[in-house]
Amino acid sequence: MRPLVTHGRQGAAVFIRADMNALGLEIGLRARRDPLWRESIVYLTCLHETGHALGLAHTADFADIMYSFQFGGDIPDYFGRYRRILASSGVWLLAPTWGFRAIKEAALGGSPWPAIGMCAVVSVAYLAIALVCLAFFERLARSRASLRLA
Ligand SMILES: [Zn+2]
Repeated sequence: MRPLVTHGRQGAAVFIRADMNALGLEIGLRARRDPLWRESIVYLTCLHETGHALGLAHTADFADIMYSFQFGGDIPDYFGRYRRILASSGVWLLAPTWGFRAIKEAALGGSPWPAIGMCAVVSVAYLAIALVCLAFFERLARSRASLRLA
């Protein structure tokens, strides 16, 4: 993170190196096998560095996003906690997850169409749920509507 001034206002330039090998052999190898693990590390690192840009300092609390590995601790476990939360929370239910996978597949020379298909299926499901909710709340509003002046 580097402080800077832009248009007369204070700001910060945040640099994130998505080099998993720089975090050690174990993390580098696992990141190659497990994209969600890698993306968790990149996300948490971005969040940590944004905290510095906002003026937050390191803490010794292992549960804190501003935790510094200089205090020791199990680094794979630190990142693994967030990965486990993502994996168990149904991240596959989010259309952007599939959109991101499609872009990644296309960039790596693979076929983006399976991920685009899942993105479309998830989007249509959310549209259907939204239409059912809209009809329900419209019916509810009409049943409770009144022209009476209080
Ligand atoms: Zn830091």
